[in-house]
Amino acid sequence: MNTNNRLRIAIQKSGRLSKDCQSLLKQLGIKLNLREQRLIAHSTNMPIDVLRVRDDDIPGLVMDGVCDLGIVGENVLVETQAERQRNQQPSEVTKLAKLDFGYCRLALAWPQELGIQDKDWFNGKRIATTYPEILKQYLEKEQIEASVVMLTGSVEVAPRAGLADAICDLVSTGATLEANGLMQGDTILESNACLIQNANLNDDDKLSLINKLMPRLRGVKQAKE
Ligand code: ATP
Ligand code: ZN
Repeated sequence: MNTNNRLRIAIQKSGRLSKDCQSLLKQLGIKLNLREQRLIAHSTNMPIDVLRVRDDDIPGLVMDGVCDLGIVGENVLVETQAERQRNQQPSEVTKLAKLDFGYCRLALAWPQELGIQDKDWFNGKRIATTYPEILKQYLEKEQIEASVVMLTGSVEVAPRAGLADAICDLVSTGATLEANGLMQGDTILESNACLIQNANLNDDDKLSLINKLMPRLRGVKQAKE
């Protein structure tokens, strides 16, 4: 549990979500000095600390109560939740808002030269992914018997490298797939960044600060629409 009396928010340190997270915090009126390459940035105008970490660590930090809030892609949230449920670790969070950035799809793809394929084709095949839990749930639901190869990076080169027959990877424009000679199939998950809260947070001061920030968040969202 975060027993510190400052509200702790986990965001991605550097990557696709960092810029949008930083500007969201700014729009919420949270002043931060993010120039230094520190793990923790203290707000100068509110009792808030911002932790800058790898996106994969964010759901776990919030689920374990190390951080009170976190901003993370639904893809990472759903995957972590399933993995933790399997390991009987805390996996509950309160989803406070779906945010209007970080959109991507988790989709199946295979070498273009194979042409259009239906779901049956995947039977007996090897599929490389960074999201084994989400993929396994999909395969089970679709009654496809395929094996899952877990890779934490460069998934799109797996077919060419002979590591897998197909992949299940994040796509936003499809340009990366195309550049790697892959054809896109079914989308198995659509994802946006979201704001999550520790499910057991019961510190009155922190809860009232969150209650103050939430209308601002809705205001920011409306202003963009
Ligand atoms: P980290 O070093 O923090 O682990 P990463 O390389 O895992 O970073 P990024 O590539 O920065 O992660 O992506 C972070 C999140 O951005 C993804 O989990 C996803 O929610 C979202 N995202 C949006 N568009 C894309 C895309 N085209 N490809 C991958 N992720 C995307
Ligand atoms: Zn990551």
